Formats: sequence, structure tokens, C-alpha cells
Amino acid sequence: MVCTTLKPGIECIFMKKTGCSYSGGKCFPIVENCEGCARVVEFETGKYCSTFPYPAQKWQKGSCPMATHLKKASKAEEQKINPLKASKRAAGKK
Ligand code: SF4
Repeated sequence: MVCTTLKPGIECIFMKKTGCSYSGGKCFPIVENCEGCARVVEFETGKYCSTFPYPAQKWQKGSCPMATHLKKASKAEEQKINPLKASKRAAGKK
């Protein structure tokens, strides 16, 4: 159903005829780590994640698996690792 509480207009599985069925009857706002993520949506009620009702929980065990703003960082790490692998491979062929 479409949310009528904190994220008006957003389709949400927790919204029921009786109201929001999520823990406590409402979503939780984004956390600092979410800043820059494309899933952040700003409402009059505050900034919320369009995917998760409790963003802080998604960062408790490392990085949020749905974060859109972390891909560039991981690609940069890959690029740092790849030249090393390449040089090791080259050294192994000698
Ligand atoms: S997808 Fe993850 S990082 Fe992005 S806003 Fe939601 S909880 Fe935050």
C-alpha cells in the first residue's frame, strides 16, 4: 500500500489498512553513512531511505548492501589491487 505517514506517496510493504505495521509504527530516518546514496528521499517529515525502513540497521554489520554511493569506492579499490595482481602474474611467468 502507499504510505500515508512519514513517506507519503511511496509504495511500501509495511503499510496496511490499519496503518504502518513496521516496528513502532514508523520508519527511521537515514543515518550519516547514507548521505550521498541515491535511495535517500527527502520528505517534509525528513530524509528517509526508499528501500529500508531502518537504515541504521543496514550499517551495523559493515556497509549497507544497497548503498549506491559506495560502488565507486570499491571500483577504485579494485583498480588498486589489479596492478598488483598483474605484476605478480608477470613475475610468476619469468
Ligand atoms: S540504501 Fe542503504 S545507504 Fe542508501 S539510503 Fe538506504 S540504508 Fe542508506
